[in-house]
Amino acid sequence: ESENAGIAAKSYAENNSAETIFTKIIRKEIPAKIIYEDDVCLAFNDVNPQAPVHFLLIPKTRIDCLSSSKETDAQLLGHLMYTAGQLGNSLCPKGFRLVINNGQEGCQSVYHLHLHILGGMQCGWPPV
Ligand code: 5GP
Repeated sequence: ESENAGIAAKSYAENNSAETIFTKIIRKEIPAKIIYEDDVCLAFNDVNPQAPVHFLLIPKTRIDCLSSSKETDAQLLGHLMYTAGQLGNSLCPKGFRLVINNGQEGCQSVYHLHLHILGGMQCGWPPV
């Protein structure tokens, strides 16, 4: 068993009572265009893309939002960030943007932590 699988098993035990639509995507119960998967995370195209490249990267265990993550999730969060960098660079070699919407004023709609990776175009700043 890999080190990553150990993280997943531990976190899943803490969160197995709650689900969102993303749980169904993880279980392949509803279709999604999956672009990457490993023991602890899954990346798939956003159903309502806001850029030419727009995919979501989620942990297979449910953390409802970034601000409710625990210090014990730090390794998992680091893995998500690292993986976003690798996938972003592979699909958007000229650059990309990561977004995490957190809570009501952060415009979060699905309460299963996810990183948006947006690219394939020139981003602007400021973002809002
Ligand atoms: P949030 O607003 O919570 O940061 O982002 C949720 C994202 O999930 C939105 O961009 C939305 O388009 C996407 N989304 C919601 N439901 C589904 C779904 O069933 N499949 C896919 N692929 N994306 C979804």
